Amino acid sequence: MSLDQMWAGWRSEFVESIPSSQDGCVLCLLGTLEVGVESHVLFRGEGNFVVMNAFPYAPGHVMVVPYNHEGEYLSLGDDVVEENLLLTRRVVAAIKRAYNPDGFNLGANIGKAGGAAIAAHIHFHVVPRWIGDTNFMTTVANTRVLPESLDSAYNRIASELNS
Ligand SMILES: [Zn+2]
Repeated sequence: MSLDQMWAGWRSEFVESIPSSQDGCVLCLLGTLEVGVESHVLFRGEGNFVVMNAFPYAPGHVMVVPYNHEGEYLSLGDDVVEENLLLTRRVVAAIKRAYNPDGFNLGANIGKAGGAAIAAHIHFHVVPRWIGDTNFMTTVANTRVLPESLDSAYNRIASELNS
């Protein structure tokens, strides 16, 4: 079984678990869910929530997402932006303790031209990186490499985030 096949099944499971009533915005829906391994929501703040990325680029790929259905970065309030940065730093600390990566990619793809998959709702990625991981991915598979389940990654990061 190829990685593509393995994770296609898991992906459809995720898609099926989302009710279709939220006007199609997955991030708005996730922003309404309780913290827990079922939702993969790690933390709910005042203006942002923290959630595992369901289609991770690396194990431990987390997103820090404003509740606002807003695609324009400059339209976010100062309080939301500040909390977003502080939560991002907290997530980085938790991932460092949980995974000890060699580095991180932090940031957002803003707008369609910026490569955003969900351009209408801005979201910030925290992606742990390892030396050689890009080479590994290119060599081994034509898809993203997921050595562990989302539930497992959730539990690892959640225990560090709340410690
Ligand atoms: Zn939204």
